[in-house]
Amino acid sequence: MKDIASILRNPIEYLKGVGPLRAELLQKELGIFTFSDLLDHFPYRHVDRTRIQLIRDIRPETDFIQVAGKVVSVEVLGFKQSRRLVAELRDASGTLELVWFQGINGMQKLLTVGGEYLVYGKAGFFQGSPTITHPEIEVSGGQGAGRPEFLEPVYPTTEKLKVRGLGGRQLGKLVTTLFNVLKDSDLPENLPADIREEGWPSRYEAYRQIHFPADLSVYARAAERLKFEELFLAQLRLGLIKSRRHRYSKGVVFAQVGQLFNQFYTQYLPFELTGAQKRVLREIRNDTGSGRQMNRLLQGDVGSGKTIVALLAMLLALDNGFQACLMAPTEILARQHYEGIRKLLEEMPVEVRLLTGSSRSKVRKEVLGLAREGRLHILIGTHAVLEESVQFGRLGLAIVDEQHRFGVQQRARLWKKAAVPPHVLVMTATPIPRTLAMTAYGDLDYSVMDELPPGRQPISTVHRYEDRRPQVMDFLRHEIGKGRQVYVIFPLIEESETLDYENLEKGYENIKAWFPEPKYWISRVDGRQKQEIRDTNMRRFLGGDTQIMVATTVIEVGVNVPNATVMVVESAEKFGLSQLHQLRGRVGRGAEKSFCILLTSPRLGKEARERLSILTETNNGFKIAEKDLEIRGPGDIEGTRQSGLLSFKLANIVQDRALLELAREKAAVLLDKDPELESEENRALKLFLQSQQGKTAWSKIS
Ligand code: ADP
Ligand code: MG
Repeated sequence: MKDIASILRNPIEYLKGVGPLRAELLQKELGIFTFSDLLDHFPYRHVDRTRIQLIRDIRPETDFIQVAGKVVSVEVLGFKQSRRLVAELRDASGTLELVWFQGINGMQKLLTVGGEYLVYGKAGFFQGSPTITHPEIEVSGGQGAGRPEFLEPVYPTTEKLKVRGLGGRQLGKLVTTLFNVLKDSDLPENLPADIREEGWPSRYEAYRQIHFPADLSVYARAAERLKFEELFLAQLRLGLIKSRRHRYSKGVVFAQVGQLFNQFYTQYLPFELTGAQKRVLREIRNDTGSGRQMNRLLQGDVGSGKTIVALLAMLLALDNGFQACLMAPTEILARQHYEGIRKLLEEMPVEVRLLTGSSRSKVRKEVLGLAREGRLHILIGTHAVLEESVQFGRLGLAIVDEQHRFGVQQRARLWKKAAVPPHVLVMTATPIPRTLAMTAYGDLDYSVMDELPPGRQPISTVHRYEDRRPQVMDFLRHEIGKGRQVYVIFPLIEESETLDYENLEKGYENIKAWFPEPKYWISRVDGRQKQEIRDTNMRRFLGGDTQIMVATTVIEVGVNVPNATVMVVESAEKFGLSQLHQLRGRVGRGAEKSFCILLTSPRLGKEARERLSILTETNNGFKIAEKDLEIRGPGDIEGTRQSGLLSFKLANIVQDRALLELAREKAAVLLDKDPELESEENRALKLFLQSQQGKTAWSKIS
C-alpha cells in the first residue's frame, strides 16, 4: 500500500492546462508543487451564481448578488474622472443601476437596449437606489438558463499569477480539471469509523465540497471535517510521542524521599505549601520514580510559588545521589535564585554554585570541574549552562525557569549532559491558555498551579490617563512615605528602540524632577547598561537603598522585592496583556496591599480601553491569557510564534476551539485503546500518518 494517493504526488506540471511555465509560477508564487498541493489550496470565499435574486430584495447589507433582467437604457455621463457608463437593468421587481468607470467603450459594444443579461457583483446603494459598480455581465438566454449547480470558488493568488491567467477564480478551472481525474479511492478515508459517525462527509466528499459546495452550509460541514482532521492528526502525532516516551524512554529513578528533602521540609521550609504545590510535587515524584524520563511543563501563575517546588524537586534528586541544575532566562534572575536558594539551604550540607555568561574564567573553570566530578550538588545559571563544556558527573534533574520557549532542540542539549538523559521540568513565564498548551506542548506532561499562597492581597489595578500624572505621583509619594518601594516601567519595543530610549531618558528625568535627591533615590535599570551597572542598581533597590526603580521590561520575569507595592506602567497601551500581567506580578509579593497603575495617552481606541479593562477586572493570569488569545489570535502569543506548531492550513485554534477539544479527546481515547495504531481498523490512519512524514512543521522538530 505504499502507493496510496499516488496520483496526488504527480507534479503539478502534468495537470492538463498547466505545463512547465505555469508550473514554475505556481511553485514559486504559491508553493504548489503537486496535485496534492493544489487540492490543499483552499478557496477563501465563494461566488454564488447558483441563484438569481430579485432586484427588490437588494438591501444595504446585501453582499454579492446575481440578478437577471433587461437593459432599458445605456448612457455615458460625466467628464474626465467622473466619466462613466451607466446602464439600467430591470427585472419583474425593480430597477438596478450598473456603472462602469473603466472599459467604457468595450461595454458599450456589449450592451444593447432591450437585451437580456445575467449580472453578478457587489451590491451597493447610491443616493437611495441600488447599484453595482463594475459587475460581471453576460448575455443570458432568458431566465438564467445554464446556471451552475455549485458555488464558484475564489482562491488566494498573486499579481504575477493573475497576469498569466491564474487569477483567484481562474485557479478554480485547474481544480475542476483535477477533480475530473481524481477518484474516490485517491482520497481514502483516514478517520476511524466511530469519529465519522459525527455525520461528516467522507474525505473525498469533504475535499470536493470545500472547493465546490452546493451551498454555504455544505461548505461549512466540509470545512469542519477537514479542520477536525488537521487537529486530530496533530494531536495524534504529539500523543504518540508522549505515549512512546511513557513506555520506552529510560530515566534515572528517584526511588526515595531522603534526608535532605525531609530535613528541609520539616526544619527550613518557611511556610506551608499550597495544595497546588503539593499536587505538582506528587506529580514530579511519580514521574521521577517511574523509570521513565520526565518531561513536564509546569504552568504557574505569577507568584504561585514555582521556585520552592523547583527547590524541593532538586532536593529529591540529591537524596537519590544525583545532581540538579536550574536555568533562568536572565542573569539577574539566575543570581536571585542563587542567592535565595543559598540562603534557604544555609544550614544544610548542599553545595550550590552559580554559572552565568559573566562568570570569571577562574570561577568558571572551578565550577566546571566540580560539576564534572559530581562535587557540586545544585548548579544555578543562565543559558551558559547549556554550553557543551558544561558536563555533569551525575545529572538527574534539569529545571528551566520562566520560559516556555524552551524547544525540543534545547531540551535535547540537556539530554547530552549525562549518560542517561536527566528529567526535565520546564516552568513557564506566562500562563498560556489550555487550548494552546495542549496544541503546542501535547508531547509534554502538563501541570498547572492555579492557586496563590494564602494571605496574598489581590493587586488593585487602575487605568489612568496622562493628565492625572500629578495625582499618580502624589500617590507614589504617599506610599514611599510609608516605607514602600515603587517601580516605574517604560516600554521598549524593538522596532522603535531609539525612540523608546529617548522616551525612557525623558521619563527618567521627569521622575527625578518629581522625586529629587537626597530625599529620594532612584535605581535605573535598562538593557543598554553594562552588566555591572545594572546589577549594582538592581541590588540597591533589592536592598532598599533606593525607593524607586525606573526600568524597562528587563525586570519582567521573576524579580522578587516584597517591599515594592506600587507599579506604574507608562504607555501601558504598548504592552501585551500577558506581559502587563507578568510585570504586575512584581508587586503584591509581600503582606502589604499593592497597586498597579496603567498610564496611557488619553487618545485611546475602544479596543485598547477594553483590553486594559481586563487587567483591572481580574488578577487571574489564565483568564487574561485566554482574553489575550481571543484578541490577538494565536500568532502573537509569546513563545509559540517560532514553534510553527500552531499554524494549521484551515483550522484556527481560537475560533475552532471546540473542534480542538473534540480532536484531543478523540485522539486520547484512540491511543488509549491502540497505542501503536496496530489494529486493523486503524490501519488506514497509520498509513496516512506515515505518508505525511516530512510534510509538517512537527516532523521538522522531532
Ligand atoms: P513564581 O511562581 O512567580 O516564580 P515565586 O516562587 O517567586 O513565584 O514565589 C513568590 C513568593 O511567594 C515568594 O516570596 C515565595 O517565598 C512565596 N511563597 C511561595 N510559596 C508559598 C507558600 N506556600 N506560602 C506562602 N508563601 C509562599
Ligand atoms: Mg519565578
